[in-house]
Amino acid sequence: MSLAVDGLVKRFGAIQALNGLHFEVPEAHVFGFLGSNGAGKTTTMRIALGVLRADGGRITWRGRDHRGLPRQFWGYLPEERGLYPKMTVLEQLVFFAGLQGVPRDVAIREARSWLARFRVPEFAGRKAEELSKGNQQKVQFLAAVMHDPQVMLMDEPFTGLDPVNIVLLREAILELRDRGKTIVLSTHQMETVEAMCESVAIVDRGQTIVTGPLSEVKRSTGRRMVLLATRGDHSLAWLAQVPGARLLRPGMERSEIEIEPEVEPESVLAAALAAGARVTHFEVADPSLEQVFIEHVGHPADIEPGTEASAGTPSGTPSGGRQIAPAGIASAPDGEAVA
Ligand code: ATP
Repeated sequence: MSLAVDGLVKRFGAIQALNGLHFEVPEAHVFGFLGSNGAGKTTTMRIALGVLRADGGRITWRGRDHRGLPRQFWGYLPEERGLYPKMTVLEQLVFFAGLQGVPRDVAIREARSWLARFRVPEFAGRKAEELSKGNQQKVQFLAAVMHDPQVMLMDEPFTGLDPVNIVLLREAILELRDRGKTIVLSTHQMETVEAMCESVAIVDRGQTIVTGPLSEVKRSTGRRMVLLATRGDHSLAWLAQVPGARLLRPGMERSEIEIEPEVEPESVLAAALAAGARVTHFEVADPSLEQVFIEHVGHPADIEPGTEASAGTPSGTPSGGRQIAPAGIASAPDGEAVA
């Protein structure tokens, strides 16, 4: 039971936007759809919504082609936002819900309930242009969920929100998931993904690099972290004695050491003790999602490939991508053309 993207292909003239993209989103999950600028995330969402037609591959929901799904099935928060500046927030929300077939009285009730939930009931009568950017963003989120869609596609929903509103929005998304909704979250904020997503796909240049449960994707590079605290000397000069270990981030409290797959974490501890370091903390951990992303894609998430900052060959990017399939999910049948 899932949303499956299978072998999706899309070209814009000479640009190959999608080149066999695939992943599965388990139902009632929050899924992190991660990729650098230009990786093909928005294109994938637009195909799902029926705004664009794929050149190959398919998208299915519970095994059925997405093109048979009603428009109300989807909730979409686009990256480029747009509210009517002169319209009040309440009228706006009722209008958007009405486009999806929600009767006016139901929409008014729903809008008031969401505004209260977001602690801004007084916004109902305000014009959109009178709201700050972050508050307009909240209204835009509400416009996407007012009609109670089954699957929500959200492009950078946290952009422009302050920390309090980020928490409010996170809670709202998790509550929607608990009510059985499936949420695809496209964002460059890796910490948010780690906090919210059960599974993820990392995509680059229209291809899936790795996908599966978050915990497995985080182990997909084989690298691990040693978190070490020592009393006194924090230079960790002795680390030079451990081949395959690299000080990623020195810290007074705790230093982060990245180790290659073949390095035993205990060898780091042994080297520290042999050098006379007074070790007060030793822990083995997975790398952060940010590290995993950079390792697979070759540059941070908010840099477009080919730009100066990201020049170089991406490492570990097998052309077919790595599938870490969630247990119990069969892969979708091979690519029947959508277009
Ligand atoms: P971002 O994180 O920057 O939003 P993205 O992953 O959403 O990026 P897309 O917007 O899907 O990336 O773009 C994928 C590729 O397709 C890019 O190279 C982009 O320039 C190209 N592209 C997207 N839409 C069009 C279009 N309408 N015409 C031509 N090229 C397009």
